[in-house]
Amino acid sequence: MTATKAAPALDEILATLQRAYRKPKIHESTDAMEQLLYAVLMKWYPAAKCEAVIQAFRQEFVDWNELRVSHVTEIEPVLQRLELEDVHAPSQAVRDALVGFHLQRNDLEPEFLNEMGAEERERFWSAVPTLDASMIHYLTLSREPVGTIAHQVDLARVAQRLGLIGKSSSSKKTVKDLEDLGAELDRLQLQLGLIRIGIETCDARNPACDLCKLASFCPMSEKVIADKKQAEKKAAEQRAAEERAAEAARLAAEKAAVREREKAEKIAAKEAAIAAKEKAKADAEHAKQEKLKAVEKAKADKQAAEEKAKAAAEKKKAEAKAREEKAKEAAAAKAAKKAADKQAAEKRAAEKKAEAKKPAEKKAAERKSAPAKAAKKTDAAKKPSGSKKSGSKKR
Ligand code: SF4
Repeated sequence: MTATKAAPALDEILATLQRAYRKPKIHESTDAMEQLLYAVLMKWYPAAKCEAVIQAFRQEFVDWNELRVSHVTEIEPVLQRLELEDVHAPSQAVRDALVGFHLQRNDLEPEFLNEMGAEERERFWSAVPTLDASMIHYLTLSREPVGTIAHQVDLARVAQRLGLIGKSSSSKKTVKDLEDLGAELDRLQLQLGLIRIGIETCDARNPACDLCKLASFCPMSEKVIADKKQAEKKAAEQRAAEERAAEAARLAAEKAAVREREKAEKIAAKEAAIAAKEKAKADAEHAKQEKLKAVEKAKADKQAAEEKAKAAAEKKKAEAKAREEKAKEAAAAKAAKKAADKQAAEKRAAEKKAEAKKPAEKKAAERKSAPAKAAKKTDAAKKPSGSKKSGSKKR
């Protein structure tokens, strides 16, 4: 590829890059730390605003170290006072760049860079975290003569894909081809713009041509976009096929589940029927046993009732017998008593009779003994009084 072939689109490419990323400019200061801040701020602001911000930093902070240790919220107001918008990301990037430099050197003294060549400086800046490829390339070019073109992988890849230069594995050849595009070109704009395209969309493996700002100039874009659409279509078809397969598998699984469920239901119904039959059988057996039990019970109850009635009758009979015995005994006792009473009455009558006889017997006895007594009386009367006395004492 030669400069002549790419030339027709080059002006339009540069105009497009300028509209997208503004026109870059090498900061006039030779202070490497200012160059660092300028490289970072260029991502968000035009050159004049970047310089104004750096001047404001110099006024607001004692030195770059104070800016490094400041919180982002202390940096943001400096940018806001310059009427800049969306200040958080650039404030954070400024602080991160200083912190990254400090991590590499343990200070913010950039004099050592004066001793380095372009490639060595690029390696140093590449090691500073948070700096992107465009910032690093700017910092590499910032100490080189105006119009210098330096090799950079993103730059080479995008320029080749755009057809601005031929495919070459040699960095020198790449640089030569870019130089051949013309000395009158804004080479800084071209290099930084193409590198930013490389960062944003022109990935080495998977370029996002449908989002690329230079797609209309890129011979690759049509094929990449078509391939991408084809790949997306294929992926969509693949997804649809997978979804259909998944749906078919789901339906098959559902059918299998239904079959399994029906089979299980049949088995369950069969088992339930068997169980019901067994239960009915068991119930019938139970009823039979219950009936037998009831018959046995009735029989036992009847027997018990009969025994009870028999016992009651026997008891009644025994009681009647006992009453009869008792009555007999009572009658016997009464008869005995009557006999005893009679005997006693007879005895009392006999005694009474005997008592009644006693006066008569006494009288009879007295009559019988009267002559003797009279004789005694006569004898007594005939005896002296002394013998009378002794008779009294005897008594
Ligand atoms: S259109 Fe695609 S291939 Fe071309 S520069 Fe842009 S991203 Fe890269």
